[in-house]
Amino acid sequence: MKKNTTLHSLLKKISTAAALITLILSAFAYTAGSHNSQFDDVSKTWNQPVKPFRVIGNIYYVGAAEVSAFLITTPAGHILLDSGFAETVPQIKENVARLGFKIEDVKILLNSHAHFDHAGGLALLKEMTGAQLLASEMDAALLAVGGKNDFQWGDTLSYKPARADRLIRDKDRVELGGVQMIARLTPGHTKGCTTWTMKVKENGNEYDVVIVGSASIPGYKLVSNSGYPNIAEDYEQTFRVLKSLSCDVFLAPHGSFFAMKEKMKKLDMGAKKNPFIDPQGYRSYVERAEKTFRELLEKQRQAAKQT
Ligand SMILES: [Zn+2]
Repeated sequence: MKKNTTLHSLLKKISTAAALITLILSAFAYTAGSHNSQFDDVSKTWNQPVKPFRVIGNIYYVGAAEVSAFLITTPAGHILLDSGFAETVPQIKENVARLGFKIEDVKILLNSHAHFDHAGGLALLKEMTGAQLLASEMDAALLAVGGKNDFQWGDTLSYKPARADRLIRDKDRVELGGVQMIARLTPGHTKGCTTWTMKVKENGNEYDVVIVGSASIPGYKLVSNSGYPNIAEDYEQTFRVLKSLSCDVFLAPHGSFFAMKEKMKKLDMGAKKNPFIDPQGYRSYVERAEKTFRELLEKQRQAAKQT
């Protein structure tokens, strides 16, 4: 009996330590903003399964703990935004089924940006569903080479290439079964990073949804970047666009950007007002991201002057 208790407490200690290490590792990844190797411990943490759920209206969350995937259902088939890692695809497939939908009914695949943690599974999803993949011109180019020759990551974060069937320009509309999504190009994080907007209805009210492409700056050179000379101008443009959007429901490619876990818990506990209706959360996210951008740009400009 005693032995068992000791063993149990030892195991508990080990698992607590492991959880702590994971936490430190993921905190490090956020700070450094990079993944050093493909599908490392951080990626595995990000890819932990979560219970799929209805976010609001016809938008469902079918992704993993930190890498999002959104299913937008329509009577004419579905739209799926983002694939997560290649390793996330089996979860997405299962999550779609758990919600009572069929992955084969996905007709359109969209992408927030062509990094391996959001686009790594698009090729597989395309094969699985036969859906049309729509992407911005610049990110379609990155998708076509599976993330290789990236201005920041080179060939280190590559994935199975996916060919886009249609190119999306700023303000283009994507329509399916009465649902309309509008693309807004928000470049910088990738050259073709795309923010998607749409309207949803719930309890007789209509809401503006913004699914941000990403405005984070994972260790990028904003000054004299030979691989992306207009990167700072692109971020400037992105903040102009993001600030111009009307947003009630704030969603993003990483759960931590929009406090997914906390909001999901509230929803689970039967919150009266849908916690994903969070215009203030959106404004704070954009403000924080812009502040980080301005500070980093200033720091890099000063450093460039001194050399
Ligand atoms: Zn990214």
